[in-house]
Order: sequence, then structure tokens, then C-alpha cells
Amino acid sequence: QRLTAGLSRTSKAMGEQITQTFVQKAPLDQARLEELEEMLIEADLGPHSAARITERFAAEKFGKDVDEAEIKEALAEAIGDELAARVGAFDPLSGPRPYIVLFIGVNGSGKTTTLGKIAADLTSRGAKVMIVAGDTFRAAAVEQLKVWADRAKADFESRPTGSDAAALAFDSVEKAKAQGYDVVLIDTAGRLQNKQGLMDELLKIIRVIKRLDPDAPHETLLVLDATVGRNALAQENIFGNQIGVSGIVMTKLDGTARGGVLVPVAQASDSPIKLIGVGEGIDDLQPFDPRAFARSVVG
Ligand code: GDP
Repeated sequence: QRLTAGLSRTSKAMGEQITQTFVQKAPLDQARLEELEEMLIEADLGPHSAARITERFAAEKFGKDVDEAEIKEALAEAIGDELAARVGAFDPLSGPRPYIVLFIGVNGSGKTTTLGKIAADLTSRGAKVMIVAGDTFRAAAVEQLKVWADRAKADFESRPTGSDAAALAFDSVEKAKAQGYDVVLIDTAGRLQNKQGLMDELLKIIRVIKRLDPDAPHETLLVLDATVGRNALAQENIFGNQIGVSGIVMTKLDGTARGGVLVPVAQASDSPIKLIGVGEGIDDLQPFDPRAFARSVVG
């Protein structure tokens, strides 16, 4: 299964530690509980979740004989419970037409790739899809997005480098409405080094789109890279507070042993986790399934 394979770095790190700590069936004591908590923190689950999960173990199992298999099962259940309420569906084809999706996040987080994968999935299901190259700052980003648009057989709207991204977004959405598009996927810039400039630009894009459709964007997906670890929390905070986010995509979970970072991000955010990326392939973007995720993380 792709999810399990994708999360193998995280599960290997965790699995090995669990094996070491719980190799023999023995009563769960304070020392082993502490090792467990430490292990959860090392996997970037965050101190709060780690403490909650450890307390839950203590309440259920303290003084009782536990072995590796039981620990893994209980851990998967606890992580699954932590995440169960933090999941949301992403289904552009069941919404209004055109369904307008804005992709935000810092450069390199996987916005273009995620957008491309979604476009390919939608066109394969027969949808008429427009991709808008709203990062008018980086020529390379526009070219890369064009490759994805061609691959997905989606239509592509772009402007020369340095053009006004909001004007491009406005004209594109207007065209999409006139020409009966099902979905409009709008890429945006992510140069966090000029934070206020970036936030103003994103807010302006949203403002002009609303002139054409007050309910748009129907989704604002924040793309976060799992390999930056707890930095993802800071990014969630900035974009969540300043722009407003309807769902989170966590990418590159295959590229880190600390995939557990999804847990504190999910808990800190007002918006649910909708999709996860576990590889660069087109099938490696998946709907977020908390129980399956939890099982795969534990190994
Ligand atoms: P952007 O700057 O936010 O648009 O980021 P890109 O979409 O260009 O992605 C940056 C790099 O991350 C590219 O090399 C992608 O192939 C890679 N990438 C994106 N998502 C994933 C993922 O889920 N797993 C892995 N391993 N790589 C990914």
C-alpha cells in the first residue's frame, strides 16, 4: 500500500524504538512510559499530544504486562483518536461551478505538484479544468506548472513575469464562468521573505475573485511540507491567521522520519487536513484517512 510505503521512514524510526523499549513482555512502569513519551516527541508529535497519549496509556495499562504488538496497536488507536476530528473532504466536483480553489504556501512546499496531481485527477474524471499561474513572480514556477497542465490536459492561463497576479486571477475566473469550466485551480506566490507583500497580494487575489463570486474561493488549500518539521506549525499560523485556510495539504510525508508532525499541525489548525502527499507520483496524493495514517505511522 502506497500510504504505508510512503510513511516507512517515520514508521521505521518509531517501530525500532518501540521494539527496543518493549522487546519483552513486562509491566508498564514509569521508566518505559517516559521512553514512550520521549519517542513520540522525537517523532514530532508535539509535547501536548505526546503527553496526552502517554497519560492515556498510563490510565489503561500502568502496571500491566504489555508487549510490542499491544503498544503499537494502542498507539495507532491513540493517534487515530487524536486526528479523527481533524479530517475534511476535498471534492471540487460536488460543489458549485466553477469551483475555485486557491493554493497557498511557501515556495518549495509542493504547491505546484499538488495542484498538478489534483488537475490530472479531475480531468481524468471528465472535468473541464483551468489552471491559473498566479505566481507571476517566478518564471520557473510558471513553466513547471505549464508542464503539469499539459500532462493533465487542463487549460492554462498565465501572464509575463511581473504581471499583476490579482488581475490574472480576475480575468481567468471571469473566463471560466463564461466558458463553463468545472474547476479553476489557482497557484500563488510563496515568497515568505517578503511576508507582508505576499499577504497583501493573496488578500487582493481573494478580494477580486469575490467580486465575481462572493462565495469564492470555495477552497483555500494551504500546502505544508512535512520535512520542515515544526516549522510547518509556524507557517500554518501565519497563513491561517492572515489569509484564512479551508483545508491543509501535507506533502512529502515520505521524505521524513518525523511524519508525526502532522498531529500537532492538525491540532493547532482551525482547518482540517484534507490531503496528504506521500511521493512525487500522480497517485501519491491521497485523501487524508486518520486511522490509516495512524496505523502506517506506527508500523
Ligand atoms: P512549490 O514551490 O510550492 O510549487 O513546490 P513544488 O511543487 O515545485 O515542489 C517542490 C519539490 O517537492 C518538487 O521537487 C516536488 O517534486 C517535490 N514534492 C512535492 N510533493 C511531494 C511529496 O509528497 N513527496 C515527495 N517526495 N516530493 C514531493
